[in-house]
Amino acid sequence: LDIEDGPSAKKHRRNSKAEDAVAAAERRKQLDAERRQLPAWAARDKLLQLLQEHRTLVLVGETGSGKTTQIPQFLLSARFGSIAAPDKPTSDNAGAAGPSDDVKLPFEGPGVVDKHGGFRSPGQAQTNHHTSAGSDGNGVSDHGGAEQQTGRRSIGGSGSNRAGGGAIAVTQPRRVAAMTVARRVAEEMGTKIGDKVGYAIRFEDVTSPSTRIKYMTDGLLLREALLDPMLSRYRVVIIDEAHERTVHTDVLFGLLKGVQARRGDDFRLIVMSATLDTARFVDYFPGAVAALIRGRQFPVRVMYTAKPEDNYLDAAINATLQVHSDEGEGDILVFLTGQDEIDSAERLLRDRLAALQSSRVASPSTCRELLVLPIYAALPPEQQMKVFEPAPEGQRKAILATNIAETSITIPGVRYVIDTGHVKARDYNAKLGLESLAVVPVSQAQARQRSGRAGREGPGKAFRLYTEADFAVLEPTTPPEITRCNLGSVVLQLKAMGIHDVLGFDFMDPPPRAAILRSLELLYALGALDAAGRLTEEVGRRLSRLPVDPMFGRVLLAAMEMGCGQEAVAVVAMVSTENVFHTPRQKEREWRAARLKFVSREGDHLTLLNVFRGFRELPKESNKARTTWCSDNFINIRAMRKAEDIYEQLVRFLGPPSPPGLGLQLATCGEDSTPLRRALTAGLFPHAAKLQPDGSYRVLATGRQVFLHPSSVLLDRKPDCLVFNELMHTTRTYARDAVAIEARWLPELAPAAFAAKTTAAIAGVGVGVGASGGLAPAAAGMGAGARGQVPRGA
Ligand code: ADP
Ligand code: MG
Repeated sequence: LDIEDGPSAKKHRRNSKAEDAVAAAERRKQLDAERRQLPAWAARDKLLQLLQEHRTLVLVGETGSGKTTQIPQFLLSARFGSIAAPDKPTSDNAGAAGPSDDVKLPFEGPGVVDKHGGFRSPGQAQTNHHTSAGSDGNGVSDHGGAEQQTGRRSIGGSGSNRAGGGAIAVTQPRRVAAMTVARRVAEEMGTKIGDKVGYAIRFEDVTSPSTRIKYMTDGLLLREALLDPMLSRYRVVIIDEAHERTVHTDVLFGLLKGVQARRGDDFRLIVMSATLDTARFVDYFPGAVAALIRGRQFPVRVMYTAKPEDNYLDAAINATLQVHSDEGEGDILVFLTGQDEIDSAERLLRDRLAALQSSRVASPSTCRELLVLPIYAALPPEQQMKVFEPAPEGQRKAILATNIAETSITIPGVRYVIDTGHVKARDYNAKLGLESLAVVPVSQAQARQRSGRAGREGPGKAFRLYTEADFAVLEPTTPPEITRCNLGSVVLQLKAMGIHDVLGFDFMDPPPRAAILRSLELLYALGALDAAGRLTEEVGRRLSRLPVDPMFGRVLLAAMEMGCGQEAVAVVAMVSTENVFHTPRQKEREWRAARLKFVSREGDHLTLLNVFRGFRELPKESNKARTTWCSDNFINIRAMRKAEDIYEQLVRFLGPPSPPGLGLQLATCGEDSTPLRRALTAGLFPHAAKLQPDGSYRVLATGRQVFLHPSSVLLDRKPDCLVFNELMHTTRTYARDAVAIEARWLPELAPAAFAAKTTAAIAGVGVGVGASGGLAPAAAGMGAGARGQVPRGA
């Protein structure tokens, strides 16, 4: 490059720059035309009008109608995001005007949604709470011209233009959605990602002070509410994908209701959903109005298998190849459950394609190329964006996706859907206090949503890899996540926001009482709450600030005291990263040999620590050294960079003396692993387990039998006692990422859970929730002591 850096090279560069500019302008024109075709555009003016009059808008629209990408841009151009760039001339002085008198609500219109979520036919009597923002089916907005010029003034008067106070937040349940959508919208707006449009997910913030539209995970907005309970940075909050009812979305609902009550006309809430069940939302938010964006959906032919499939992964691969060889134009979308599964499907599919290609030279028509494209959260952004690119002429895309493609993202070109009928979902057993990720059957609603993805651009086909009889017995819908997850971190955050009475919180669907009590117990056992259920400053306040699960947060705090802060932060960073090890099937001997260098007989956490240390010894500037080291050792360099990034962020959360820093010292314990294993015990003790004569483990707090995960370094030499990170259900229940500990540490490091005396003393206080029969002692004692299952080692 240096050699080329003469005058001619410069000239050349200038030229290509100009060409780039022309290409970019062309691209924007094309994008603009695409945008205007979206059903959301037909509803634009009406939506803006509705928002003038109503503080809460519940917006329903078919997936792919442009809710996520377009609505925030409409708001911005109408100055709801306080930026002076309306894209049409306006008749009034936007930004300075108060709530207007001359805005008439459109009372006419087909497809009107009533307050209870049903549809009315045109002409029926309606109130202004029952209105439609839909188009008339021709993509033409159906309201009168007189009303069209309104709807682009700023609400709430001049106070609304506070510097930095006017941004638009759009939440997404999934990281991939936040990232890909933000990139798309930045492209549509012709700005760099992180400038006017940005995104923020845990451990990654791609925004700047000039960001007006911020896509973010719902969990992250919840964290922001901790430091800024009025969400004063935002003029509008959009809770997207509300039908998913993630636990964070549900908690946000309760908080936003409070924000609305206090901020009044200065704040707008939009709840967006892909399903028609708006009544719940409208009833929950005072004065909410529902609106519908009419989309277009082509018929989709649904096909079932004649008999149940034993292996849906194999079946999915067969189905993909069959569609590819038998069906006409159009891309294929395959729903799988997770990264591992997608990776192996990709490999199998490529192998099979290669085999077919060599055997089918005779029939070139079936040899059209199949592009296999995965999409999941851990994929690097460039690769994520690849699925959106149209397949080159004569080729077909097969997109292997997680549930992300069900409603969160829409991939153009899909005509065939292959539904394995499974999804990875969180599951929580409140009685046992154990959360796990498990592959479970989808609900009927999910199956329909998946099939629908085939009919966006023309008639499509959906292949369900299960029988019609199996479909009939699926759950109709998925219950809200809040009813089936560990509430530890949510309850901690509510407490930190001063919401003491968690049981009395205004949940749209209250979680089971037992689950709340469980999380109170856990937080009490971790020292985050006192016996009266109040947040402790030393532990609870600090834990609420750390962007990790309370159990891992407790590991970090304990490590600070035990002099192994650096090691603990490294371990937490490594376990927050997925797929550190690269394990190609064909090179099993090689990677196993490489792995040996890092293996610690004391456990997976220490093994990960060794990897992290090895990586950090290499000079950070030397990309080459790092790349070589990683590939020699079968380690995923992306995962390592991510871990390093998380490490540095956690250090910034813990070290600096002023908030959000906690002002703690990060010492190192060198080669002595004991302090680190003790720190891990201090946080992971609810996952302490003891070896059984048959080689399995018994979780001390619950009595549950679990097996050490096959990937664990402890498998050859099982320790008597261990703590683990998480449970995984497949054919058995596996404990993943485990470290050897001493049983006698438990009563010392987790007295609230493992010392019977403390349990007795605290019983009846019930951690601020009142004695509730048998639950109160359990509430104090993590269940272990209360059930008389005093840990054997204790
Ligand atoms: P909704 O939120 O209503 O489901 P979106 O706003 O996500 O709809 O998508 C609107 C349209 O934009 C869809 O037709 C989709 O194909 C297109 N789109 C969204 N993201 C991208 C992207 N990254 N690349 C190309 N097209 C995209
Ligand atoms: Mg969307």
